[in-house]
Amino acid sequence: MTKLLVIELVCPVCGTHFSSRAVRSVTTVGQDTDFCPRVVGENPVAHYVHVCPRCHFAAFEGDFDQVQPQVREFVLSTAFDDVLEAEAPGALLGSTKYLLAARCYEHDARATRVHLADLYLRASWCARAEGDIERERACQLEAILRFEEAIAEGEVHPERQQTILYLIGELYRRVGRYELAETMLKRAADYQAEHRDPDIADLARQQCRAAMLHRCNNMVIDL
Ligand SMILES: [Zn+2]
Repeated sequence: MTKLLVIELVCPVCGTHFSSRAVRSVTTVGQDTDFCPRVVGENPVAHYVHVCPRCHFAAFEGDFDQVQPQVREFVLSTAFDDVLEAEAPGALLGSTKYLLAARCYEHDARATRVHLADLYLRASWCARAEGDIERERACQLEAILRFEEAIAEGEVHPERQQTILYLIGELYRRVGRYELAETMLKRAADYQAEHRDPDIADLARQQCRAAMLHRCNNMVIDL
């Protein structure tokens, strides 16, 4: 069962003191094929990031200790209206919190493309739980873009290569780009380097078949 606790934070950008709910414990019972955890009780994912209600600086708890000057400058000069829409400051949706965090970390020199992709992936999990398919798709596309850039730039550690290839393929499948999904899922299934994970290979093969089936069904509908 998900247990939350209230923590007190001080915004490193504007100095505002505020309370936020954080995760105390979680009971995980499985995961979706894009690694979204299935839990007993409330979805905890939304509560791993915190947002200042005044300036909307958003980050993981550990990053509230200090802020880089570029991030501070960005937050203080940005309204975030496109992300916030009409949400109340103290009751933001999980997907909104992650979108704000992604915007902030994009200005943090320590954040890698994989780190940013992971934030958009988590935003897509939250959007799915919120029933917002349009936002879920938009976040999945942002995650794909950054994961692909990370692979292209050689930024992915060998231990994570196969998993990231799998995730790109699975996200392509979820947004309906079946040919691209099959290509990436085959790469994950056939991955042969030192850090090959047979479970990821099996999952990639399974999801590759699912993508192929969807593509074939679409071809029949098009005829
Ligand atoms: Zn603030």
